[in-house]
Amino acid sequence: MLTKAYPISEIAGQTYEIDEFDCASCFLLIGQDKAMLIDTGVGIGDLAGAVRQLTDKPLITVITHGHVDHVGNAWQFDACYLNEKDWGQTGRKPDPRGDVTQRRRYADMIAHRQQGDHPRYPYDPQVDIREWERQPNWLPLCDGDRFDLGGGRVITAHACPGHTPGQIALLDASTRILFVGDAVNGNIMFMSKPGQPGFTSVEKAHEALKALRDLGDHYDHIYNGHHDYRPFGQPLREDVLPDAIALCQQLISGEFTPTYEKNPMVGWPDQLAVHKGITRIAYTLEGIHEPE
Ligand SMILES: [Zn+2]
Repeated sequence: MLTKAYPISEIAGQTYEIDEFDCASCFLLIGQDKAMLIDTGVGIGDLAGAVRQLTDKPLITVITHGHVDHVGNAWQFDACYLNEKDWGQTGRKPDPRGDVTQRRRYADMIAHRQQGDHPRYPYDPQVDIREWERQPNWLPLCDGDRFDLGGGRVITAHACPGHTPGQIALLDASTRILFVGDAVNGNIMFMSKPGQPGFTSVEKAHEALKALRDLGDHYDHIYNGHHDYRPFGQPLREDVLPDAIALCQQLISGEFTPTYEKNPMVGWPDQLAVHKGITRIAYTLEGIHEPE
């Protein structure tokens, strides 16, 4: 039996944050006719079963971007929406980053970071983090896509390239929440270089972050896909998005001294980074400007 013992917080009416044991946060939005699951975590336990304990409505599964800690349990759902620019990072084209060893290693790293040498979570990595038994039907997710959950609850997709080329934010106008995946948080990583798969320049990411800011009339709160940058069940601090925009601007204008520092992800290599308030952006010098 896979675990379903996820901590769950009701963050607004018919809106739940499902904590995948500190690894990632998934969100469940329930409308009158349909429900939407945003992200599937690194793939611990029976996420589909936990969702079914909260709603029996037809489910739309949307994944904010193709990283392994967001697509991990996609196999448990019949169909998943994901921007095509991130399809190469999922199991659709098998990718070593999606394999079970790497997912167990990621969960182990988070568990030790959060709870030290003897983490106590209600799951067994050898049982609850498993190989995909099948592929979901992958459906393209595009900027401007609208999902009508019924009763006036409509969710709109907004492209926000940066963290990945296909990163999507989801605006729920009815609760005035913007779900951003990893597009905005306290540790934004722009680590790829021109020519590498997944490359997006800081210049391009800066434009996308400003576009999220300009949607500000439509939302009051931002929820990102990991609650280690905010308390569980609570929104991201309001200064994070403007500070991230200011840091991008600083990198683009060259007003910074490149400084290597320890990576907050334990065991990962040192990074160049800039800071403002509680926000950090890790970057590469080659990745700041759009290639000629
Ligand atoms: Zn990510």
